[in-house]
Amino acid sequence: MEAAVSGVAVNAAPTGETNPFEAMMQRFDHAAELLSLDEGIYRILRHPEKQIVTSIPVAMDNGEIEVFTGYRVLYNTSRGPAKGGIRFDMGVTLDEVTALAAWMTWKCAVVDIPFGGAKGGVICEPFRMSTAELERLTRRYTASILEVLGPESDVPAPDVNTNEQVMAWIMDTYSMHKRHTVTAVVTGKPVAMGGSLGRLEATGRGVKIVVKEALREMGMPLNGTRIAVQGFGNVGSVAARLLEAEGMTVVAISDKTGGIYNPNGIYVSEALEYIRHNRFLEGFTGGDAITNEDLLEIDCDVLAPCALENVITRRNAGNIRAKIIAEGANGPTTAFADAILEEKGVFVVPDILANAGGVTVSYFEWVQNREGYYWREDTVNERLREVMIRAFDQVLQYSKAHNVNMRTAAYMLSIDRVAAVHKLRGIYA
Ligand code: GLU
Repeated sequence: MEAAVSGVAVNAAPTGETNPFEAMMQRFDHAAELLSLDEGIYRILRHPEKQIVTSIPVAMDNGEIEVFTGYRVLYNTSRGPAKGGIRFDMGVTLDEVTALAAWMTWKCAVVDIPFGGAKGGVICEPFRMSTAELERLTRRYTASILEVLGPESDVPAPDVNTNEQVMAWIMDTYSMHKRHTVTAVVTGKPVAMGGSLGRLEATGRGVKIVVKEALREMGMPLNGTRIAVQGFGNVGSVAARLLEAEGMTVVAISDKTGGIYNPNGIYVSEALEYIRHNRFLEGFTGGDAITNEDLLEIDCDVLAPCALENVITRRNAGNIRAKIIAEGANGPTTAFADAILEEKGVFVVPDILANAGGVTVSYFEWVQNREGYYWREDTVNERLREVMIRAFDQVLQYSKAHNVNMRTAAYMLSIDRVAAVHKLRGIYA
């Protein structure tokens, strides 16, 4: 992997167990086989529709020009405009972005919202860049993928290390080129410029909803049940706060600087207050310091990996003590680990279902932008709950009816939905 801060860095994708595209494909192939998927549709769905690789020159604050590498992948648009976040991270690879774009396709189909799947990424170290540098990078990246963007064609959103401000710059850049304001070109915007109430919390709120449903299914109470949450960003911190408010005991939390463990429960509000001043959890005294690896194997009932891919692998899956895993992150579990968890009887709520709350409220935001009429926050939250509970229930029933685990059921259900549209639309020649 390249170690440069920027430059024309192109990361080599990891091979084997941790290659996200292979991980996605293994699950896809398994589901396709069980579905006896039509051979032609299988071939279509194994390939991304479009991959853009772009070099992004940016004038840095020190006067030097750096060239960054960016990607935007539209995996499938049969069900509607491509939808998916943009991440700024040193680990970005084309394979990763392609896998994440495919996951967005299945995710939108699982919750049955009328979008296809896309993802974008720029290889950079956002924490080492100034706000002005990030703005120039974002605007130039937006300009270089302008031909695919649009409310009817491709609608980005925040992802790892991008936020409302980045979306505001994308919206402005796109609107300047179109010569009028186009709010619906991105979601996850600030509320003041067309963002939806409830969008910021939506992914974490969705995780909360599926954890509650999973506990019900497993016959476990909410009160006092112990949860460990990896990642204390927009997903993990919200899920932890909301589940604590519902009576769960949050025994472990972590961010990229490490984790905290307290068997008696961590006060999530104190941790949030701490990171407001110190940015990261490092030094927080609400419990004992642990590593991110320790957190996954900690004694708890529910584990919510809400950070990055490939944290549950064949190396540690056997040591996981949780009975339920709710995947707030995209791709936290490798395909090898799936088999180990299944053997152990762990109930896994897969990423494409567990973290679909974010894109669901993105859909609501896009609808509100196009209607020009804005909903109340409780309306957004109630509609999110309806979508998540319906999707959870459909996947659960499907898994029981076909005697497969929740992940395979979610893939089968979503691939079937995408395939049905391909069949109806036929092949344009
Ligand atoms: N980045 C989020 C995800 O992975 C949200 C995508 C969106 O809202 O379009 O689901």
